[in-house]
Amino acid sequence: MEIKKIISHAKEYGFIFPSSDIYEGLSAVYDYAHNGVELKNNIKNYWWKAMVDLHSNIVGIDSAIFMHPTTWKASGHVDAFNDPLIDNKDSKLRYRADSLVEEYCEKLDNKILKEISKAKKRFGKDFDQKKFIETNPKVSKLKKKVEKILNRLNTSLENSDLNDVRNLIIELEIACEKSGSKNWSDVKQFNLMFSTKLGATSGSMTEIFLRPETAQGIFVNFLNVQKTSRLRVPFGIAQVGKAFRNEIIARQFIFRMKEFEQMEMQFFVPPGTQKEWYKKWMNKRMEWHKSIGMGSENYRFKNHEKLAHYADAACDIEFKFPFGFRELEGIHSRTDFDLSNHERFSGKNLKYFDPKLEKNYIPYVVETSIGLDRIFLAVLSWSLREDKLNDGTTRKVLKFPVFLAPIKLAVLPLVKKDGLPQYAKKIFDDLKLSYSTQYDEKDAIGRRYRRQDAIGTPFCVTIDYTTLDDDTVTLRDRDHMKQERIPLASLENILNEKLNVRNWLRAN
Ligand code: ATP
Repeated sequence: MEIKKIISHAKEYGFIFPSSDIYEGLSAVYDYAHNGVELKNNIKNYWWKAMVDLHSNIVGIDSAIFMHPTTWKASGHVDAFNDPLIDNKDSKLRYRADSLVEEYCEKLDNKILKEISKAKKRFGKDFDQKKFIETNPKVSKLKKKVEKILNRLNTSLENSDLNDVRNLIIELEIACEKSGSKNWSDVKQFNLMFSTKLGATSGSMTEIFLRPETAQGIFVNFLNVQKTSRLRVPFGIAQVGKAFRNEIIARQFIFRMKEFEQMEMQFFVPPGTQKEWYKKWMNKRMEWHKSIGMGSENYRFKNHEKLAHYADAACDIEFKFPFGFRELEGIHSRTDFDLSNHERFSGKNLKYFDPKLEKNYIPYVVETSIGLDRIFLAVLSWSLREDKLNDGTTRKVLKFPVFLAPIKLAVLPLVKKDGLPQYAKKIFDDLKLSYSTQYDEKDAIGRRYRRQDAIGTPFCVTIDYTTLDDDTVTLRDRDHMKQERIPLASLENILNEKLNVRNWLRAN
């Protein structure tokens, strides 16, 4: 589904509003409305349960957003947390120079995919994709071109040769998508951290930063946590919290925001074992994603060719968003970079004594880092469908994985009279103790079903005249729109079976 439709559905049905809407909004900043908060909390809870509750060697933390300013010197963010930006001199639009080149390559990749699917159709069962890619002259030429461009981009960025990045954009004849102009400025590095001032008097003000990642709150607490939890390396620390980045190129709704939430876990391991743990966490995190039930074909790994200043291996888990495969989660082998630097900058000994190996060392770190808002967008965009119904009408439905649905149940009296509302309210008062439940008696029952479909409520419990006679209710299923008559006494058990998060967690 087009992203535009997802944005308008999110606003109309109380998931996400633009921030400060009455003042025309604020670019790349959003507010979560009721259904959005519920969905976000359910995702967060699922992550926390899988990472912390299911691992006896992972504990949680909630560190502050403000940190001592030296933290960001030690982490390298003051010097190296930059995006290479380029302006189009005619349209005045600003772009990330590396993204312009990467998007150019993505178009070539799409051409390759088209050739493959054409050939698949032509050769049918006998199609050998690997051989085709290797031997088809058009495809191998395109593949070589992509490789050459990306290699040059990475080398130029690694060598801080921003002039060459600009030359590459000009040689590839990349144009501004709005104006078509190829009149580009120089490429300049732009630091992504927001800063503010701390202190009571103007003379004593210190510049501090809004954290651009939650990870540093974990690193500076490494020894505090290790000592109080009495865990031994290997162990992990998990955290969910806000992070802030001054993203200049903010597009694609909540995919790239200036204020967003991260769910991160730093896993501390003995030096030399990081590669092994990196592979383990890659697989574990992919399994977690797949356990949500949004189709294995919508995920893939992407290896980082260009490594961040702190990493010795890194990859992304990408998801098929409406605008193509994009990063959903990063998995990084961060070496001992952060802890070593904090030791150097703070002058405190951050070494760990390993009783098994009988030696002191600075642990290596494998990190899993996922954007909560990004997975929210993945879930929302995957779930939103327009179903054609047998009677020729369409319905908008959010087919959320049921354990993530913001509202699990709606209790609906068929009509607003003859004691049906009173009976329904009793059921509602009981069910709301266990599940997020709505009561609705306004409008015809069909319209009420549509309203619940549009916010993704998996089950509706309807009370009709038969209920008054025999204490049975109908349970309507969102996806198939089937209604089943069941005794009221069995409702709780049936719902427990269908909604319990344990069923999904078992796959982890
Ligand atoms: P990108 O390449 O998309 O800018 P990144 O590689 O800089 O992302 P990391 O620093 O690895 O991202 O952050 C870990 C995760 O945090 C990302 O996988 C993503 O899900 C999320 N994230 C990063 N930046 C943003 C943002 N501006 N808005 C929303 N989520 C973000």
